[in-house]
Amino acid sequence: MMKSLTVLGSTGSIGRSTLDIVAAHPDRFRIEALTAGTNLDLFVTQISKFSPSLAVVLDEASAKKLSQMLPAKGRPEIMFGLEGLVAAATASAVDMVVAAIVGAAGLVPTASAIMAGKDIALANKETLVTAGHIFMDLVKKHGVKLYPVDSEHSAIFQSLEGHRNSDIRKIILTASGGPFLNTSLETLKKVTVQDALNHPNWSMGKKITIDSATMMNKGLEVIEARWLFDTSPEKIEVNIHPQSIIHSMVEYLDGCVIAQLGTPDMKAPIAYALSYPARIATGVKALDLTELSGLTFFRPDLLRFPALKLAYRALTDGESMPAVMNAANEVAVEMFLEGRISFTDIPLLIEKTMDAHQPVRLGSIADVLQADLWGRRYSAELCSKMGGSN
Ligand code: NAD
Ligand code: MG
Repeated sequence: MMKSLTVLGSTGSIGRSTLDIVAAHPDRFRIEALTAGTNLDLFVTQISKFSPSLAVVLDEASAKKLSQMLPAKGRPEIMFGLEGLVAAATASAVDMVVAAIVGAAGLVPTASAIMAGKDIALANKETLVTAGHIFMDLVKKHGVKLYPVDSEHSAIFQSLEGHRNSDIRKIILTASGGPFLNTSLETLKKVTVQDALNHPNWSMGKKITIDSATMMNKGLEVIEARWLFDTSPEKIEVNIHPQSIIHSMVEYLDGCVIAQLGTPDMKAPIAYALSYPARIATGVKALDLTELSGLTFFRPDLLRFPALKLAYRALTDGESMPAVMNAANEVAVEMFLEGRISFTDIPLLIEKTMDAHQPVRLGSIADVLQADLWGRRYSAELCSKMGGSN
């Protein structure tokens, strides 16, 4: 059966890979709506190729510009801002929404899609980090399917098939360790934005690439796994696995461990989320184990990568703490990318923001947005005090 898709964030790294899969399977998927930020040149190319009924951009100025860039004949409806994102996420013709916007900005559109009864392919991990219990409740209440796109969670999802959650002893999330796996703490203080953007195994958007370098990405993924698989945090362990071949594992009560392996390429987990339970061609390079020189695993160094510890703490503190941690991280990453704070200031800024926060109960998406705002304001202010305002 033909599946109609909305891709939120189609010009991003996940968005582009998603459209590659769609283009390879015109018999299975069609595009109903696309949304982008400011990369209008690429967006025009995507619109011409996939002919969506609705195209959404960030603001009114971009909407006007986009309209001028597209020929009148066959031009889709053009909308902008949150209203546009929600329209794309809830359009009646849509079966599945690919949530591939980065950061807490994905929260409201993704929640709207669930409430409109759409199945979700979830890349935007920040939604589960900030509002995990609210999202999982919405998923249950509206009877929609939520498929993980994050490679680790796709691996866990695949390793869980045919098994019972109650038989899990632990979930082992693998982490590449990022570009600074073997960098000393002294050197970490001086690394540049370019160094941090240079990920050894994965090519991704800027924010998640920095998150991978600080290992906050793995922290966010621990929280994501906690909600997706309804597991207690003590049962989630992180192993550094620099080759990124095993994408994660599940250990069962009988001592058996089931893992999912593959060449690191996001097209594989994206395709599985789109086509579940079918497996479809992705063009991902086949894994030849005889070409590998070895697979290694070790424990993360929490002294050099305190962000991972902060994520476990946020889970323990619960309530609004993960949302505040996520907001502070978004601010800190932005500040680092702008050259205003150093790499090691990132976890410091997050920790100080968390120290100052009194967790409050989150009953609604509005509450989550408020906690997010608090975290953003506090950490931005802190950053100026740290001398990062010049
Ligand atoms: P990206 O920066 O490459 O793309 C983000 C997309 O969202 C772009 O289309 C951008 O225009 C849009 N966007 C950004 N801010 C927006 C806003 N405020 N309003 C509307 N649109 C906005 O990011 P990415 O690497 O594709 O990551 C997307 C999400 O997927 C993130 O949550 C990330 O953690 C997750 N993820 C990515 C990868 C990966 O390999 N890239 C892997 C696992 C999970
Ligand atoms: Mg991941």
